[in-house]
Amino acid sequence: MGDVVTPVAVTGDFVRSFQIEGMNVRGRIVHLTDAADRVIAAHGYPDAVSGIVGEALALAALLGASLKFDGTLTVQTRSNGPVRMIVADYMTPGEVRACATFDRDAVERLGATPSFGDLVGEGSIAITIDQGEDMERYQGIVSLEGEGLADAAARYFERSEQIPTHIKLGVATLAARGGNGVRPHWRAGAIMIQNLASLGGHNAPGPENADDWVRASVLFATVESHELVDPQVEAERLLYRLYHEDGVRVFERQPLSFGCRCSADRVMSVLAQYPAHELSELAEGDGLIHATCEFCSTDYSFKPGDVQAAQT
Ligand SMILES: [Zn+2]
Repeated sequence: MGDVVTPVAVTGDFVRSFQIEGMNVRGRIVHLTDAADRVIAAHGYPDAVSGIVGEALALAALLGASLKFDGTLTVQTRSNGPVRMIVADYMTPGEVRACATFDRDAVERLGATPSFGDLVGEGSIAITIDQGEDMERYQGIVSLEGEGLADAAARYFERSEQIPTHIKLGVATLAARGGNGVRPHWRAGAIMIQNLASLGGHNAPGPENADDWVRASVLFATVESHELVDPQVEAERLLYRLYHEDGVRVFERQPLSFGCRCSADRVMSVLAQYPAHELSELAEGDGLIHATCEFCSTDYSFKPGDVQAAQT
């Protein structure tokens, strides 16, 4: 064995809220290491697609952590580029999952480092909050104009909610030793700030608040995407670098982990909506209908007769 010293990378999967002291500015920071790798590596997507899926995952955690009740927040794109759809879910109290639908040949034709616009094209991004049967489902949609998920999501808050918002996302791989030698280990991160002075309250908007937001925004603009995934930079240290002069109060870390709530029953209930003659067409050579969860790659198989029996 050699004497190579490998610095210990900062790990952890969490979202943490913060408040800049003396300002009506709040934010959240997301740090995803093992959970990001669990979500992304299992898919085996091309790296360019994995990168966007990682960003969507971090964004879903960033926005979902604001849910006040049990529920799911979903970030979903639909667009006309080679990556037709990206779906990322945050489920309280802190499970995340994500997947993409894309044309592999078209993605590969774009080369090693395609832009977000090249991959996704034009379309829309929907942010959906589902808090169970007793609560109204909420959905906001903004156009995707090639500028990336972070700016599109920030535009959604500014237009739909009238809350001035900045968001940054970061994704990277770190070489990690695994069973079969070195493989890339995915990490993803996100940070946002919001000017809550616009919501009124005791710090209603005024010249001083406006200066606060400008100052918070200028500092926020210095965040480089790589700082959100740097294995040597803790999330709290980044917040300190940004806002130590003003003082930044951090709230408890809320743990995040990979989670998928697919089940044989749920897949069965989807299949049960197909007419009987289509069910027999869905059966493969072994006589069974096979379905794979797009999020976690779990395989399910059913006898067509069992599905028909469930159609009551
Ligand atoms: Zn699943």
